[in-house]
Amino acid sequence: MEHNSSNFIKTIIKEDLESGKRDRVVTRFPPEPNGYLHIGHAKSIVINFGLADDFNGKTNLRFDDTNPLKEDQEYVDAIKADVQWLGYEWEELRFASDYFEEMYNRAILLIKKGKAYVDDLTADQIREYRGTLTEPGKESPYRNRTIEENLDLFERMRKGEFGNGEKVLRAKIDMASPNINLRDPVIYRVSHASHHNTGDKWCIYPMYAFAHPLEDAIEGVTHSLCTTEFEDQRPLYNWVVEECEMEHQPQQIEFGRLNISNTVMSKRKLKQLVDEGIVDGWDDPRLPTISGLRRKGYTPAAIREFVKETGVSKGSGVVDEAMLEHFVREDLKLTAPRTMGILKPLKVVITNYPEDQVEWLDAEINPENPEMGMRKIPFSREIYVEQEDFMENPPKKYFRLFPGNEVRLKHAYFIKCEEVIKDENGEVIELRCTYDPETKSGSGFTGRKVKGTIHWVDAKHALPAEFRLYEPLISDADEAEGKTFLDYVNKNSLEVVQGFIEPNMENVKPHDKFQFFRHGYFNVDPKHTTKEKIVFNRIVSLKSSFKL
Ligand code: ATP
Ligand code: MG
Ligand code: MG
Repeated sequence: MEHNSSNFIKTIIKEDLESGKRDRVVTRFPPEPNGYLHIGHAKSIVINFGLADDFNGKTNLRFDDTNPLKEDQEYVDAIKADVQWLGYEWEELRFASDYFEEMYNRAILLIKKGKAYVDDLTADQIREYRGTLTEPGKESPYRNRTIEENLDLFERMRKGEFGNGEKVLRAKIDMASPNINLRDPVIYRVSHASHHNTGDKWCIYPMYAFAHPLEDAIEGVTHSLCTTEFEDQRPLYNWVVEECEMEHQPQQIEFGRLNISNTVMSKRKLKQLVDEGIVDGWDDPRLPTISGLRRKGYTPAAIREFVKETGVSKGSGVVDEAMLEHFVREDLKLTAPRTMGILKPLKVVITNYPEDQVEWLDAEINPENPEMGMRKIPFSREIYVEQEDFMENPPKKYFRLFPGNEVRLKHAYFIKCEEVIKDENGEVIELRCTYDPETKSGSGFTGRKVKGTIHWVDAKHALPAEFRLYEPLISDADEAEGKTFLDYVNKNSLEVVQGFIEPNMENVKPHDKFQFFRHGYFNVDPKHTTKEKIVFNRIVSLKSSFKL
């Protein structure tokens, strides 16, 4: 994968190779399998795999599975599928849990060196004793236990003699450090929980801050790339590698997180939306998950190009969602077949068109890519147009159908609205129009012009279809006081309408993508499409004010 543009991490790597500090590049993508990947993770994937690739290095996919309560095999499988779908191949598949024995031994090494101790304080007390930015921490009364006592207690922690939270192992660093992360962080906790990979073998689990540097060191990771909220943990990361006497020394480098407007991007919140049934699973097209974007119709290339465009820097601003949409339009422009679909149908009878006649008209599959060839569309006496393409009392500059007005039917003829049929409630249910045979599309007719061109489908041949139209799920992700993001869920984020499509689409498959004339790009939904009914997700509408 090409990752040409320069950035500060690339510069560091280049210098490391030139100076001989490193002779190779090894990175890793280290998700915790506690949820599905989102587009923020895609940024980390593109950076880790992309940078290694730039320097002929390698990238491991490593599951950072040190918290058994939240992790699940379902997430492991989904994450693997998403990384592959994005177009990346990992060198090795690793699980942090495969290193539990080694981590345990390194913890014992720390105890033996007088660099770790078993503490009986509760979690609340530990927090309280930790101090604040302006106040130094207070030492635990258990801090000066003997090495023998610590070794004994830690072994008994492993054997399961203590309940959850009864005892922890802490690194013995400095309770007065200006960096709170160094005030004797907890490195092991008791958790009597079954682990998706190690089952019931362990009832003590390493904390992230202890486990992660060891994982990197064990795997020979040269550049451990993470987001900037870990910047303050870097001294601890280095402390762990050094004090645990790891042979290999990885280097942690932080970059800014990706945030997108009108989007929640934390697995915790996404899980809440899924668990509370607010969305239709992790792959709901309204979610910024990789599986949601895929189901909506995003392509791997669009996601990769978007992420690359957001760049690699220390800062983490909020990127406009319109930028993501821009990239999928760019990717689909030349590949998606054009077609016509009616989302909210209004029947039109062409009164001067012969009853039994059917014409098969020629239409380009993609005018921007003529190599895609032509398609046939039927035309006969009854068609459907869009409800919003008719107005009985139009404002100025409305060029679509209204009584007495003439428009062009895309790929077909001019029609003129002659009569409006209403039901007993006064709702317009049908239009009677006439057509002019002289005006056939492609015939070179220049006799007169019309200002509006509308789309349509032939009523007799059309296939029914469902269209799912989306708006942002969260209308304002900034949480005001006393509110949570759930208070900002947009009630209109999904609109489902029943319409019609061209008959030549009979054999579409899940994930086929089309550009519906005037409506935008759509993807055949893999979950709801059946033999009887094709369901389309709108990926994105056609127009955008977004400029790169
Ligand atoms: P979340 O907070 O959404 O749960 P996380 O950071 O806890 O995300 P992990 O599974 O630990 O999720 O993430 C794996 C990797 O992806 C980490 O290196 C993390 O820094 C990176 N990552 C997660 N979210 C983003 C983001 N929004 N932008 C860039 N990288 C991200
Ligand atoms: Mg994490
Ligand atoms: Mg998280």
